[in-house]
Amino acid sequence: MALNDKSLAARGLQSERVQWVGKGPGVFEREVESLETEVGLTTLAKAVAWAQTKSMWPDTFGLACCAIEMMSIVSSRYDIARFGMEAFRSSPRQADLLIVSGRVSHKMAAPLRQIYDQMLEPKWVIAMGACASSGGMFNNYAILQGVDRVVPVDIHVPGCPPRPEALMEGIVRLHEKVNAGVPPAYEIRGVAE
Ligand code: SF4
Repeated sequence: MALNDKSLAARGLQSERVQWVGKGPGVFEREVESLETEVGLTTLAKAVAWAQTKSMWPDTFGLACCAIEMMSIVSSRYDIARFGMEAFRSSPRQADLLIVSGRVSHKMAAPLRQIYDQMLEPKWVIAMGACASSGGMFNNYAILQGVDRVVPVDIHVPGCPPRPEALMEGIVRLHEKVNAGVPPAYEIRGVAE
């Protein structure tokens, strides 16, 4: 909104120059006028969300063929360092993003859940590929029919396997959710016991 002599006076500015009819705004008044376009304002919550999206650290957790595609996102071709995410952590206590890449056998479900429980909040989960999302082609007694049966999933990435670009798209969508103030999936849906 552009300010002028009249609006400055109306806003309570008692400067002699402002009150002087026909004189026009001085340097100070002109600076006030441009202040709104030169100063960036935000809220603490938005600043924290922005910082979180610029430093999500994925847990090192590859299960099957999809994991090969996941590993390639740290390469120079895809360069996930652009998002401050190249530091895949070997300890869940230092990670806040679990990328479930590959089919999850029933035997693996308990360790997966244990790793998720050891991650600090806030934390997010990406189900990468058809197998992690729904069991994929492995509709049998050995494979969990969707990892969302044991952990709350924030983003599903389709494909068999999804290309690294698809995983990058999932990561960008997750960042958009966080920036928009959408809470993590465990807050929305709760966590199965
Ligand atoms: S979705 Fe396809 S590529 Fe990924 S783990 Fe399953 S079979 Fe392998």
